[in-house]
Amino acid sequence: MQKSASPFEAFEAFLAFRAFIAQRLQSWVFMAVGDNPCEECDSYDGEVFEVESEDELFDMFEYGEFVDADTFKPNLHPNCFCFMKKISEVEVAPPDVPFAEFWQNIVEKGV
Ligand SMILES: [Zn+2]
Repeated sequence: MQKSASPFEAFEAFLAFRAFIAQRLQSWVFMAVGDNPCEECDSYDGEVFEVESEDELFDMFEYGEFVDADTFKPNLHPNCFCFMKKISEVEVAPPDVPFAEFWQNIVEKGV
């Protein structure tokens, strides 16, 4: 950012910065289904996975699919009927950086 940035522009940058570092944290619980789930699914049964976005579920279970917004089928293997349920979603507050300090950085370092 240029040093000629107006306080208004700086404040907008400040808001964007805060929005950028704010995180959503979702918790998904794995439910192994069936009387005789496979060993791998059984090992995940009841495990809670914390992710920042749905994309991370696909990183873990590349063949997964959403049944609805709160239900994800990991499809670990053919005929896998296990599913995951979103049990919570919280917004993690960004660290508290006072605007004055943010502005000071812009003025002093031009960042
Ligand atoms: Zn399974």
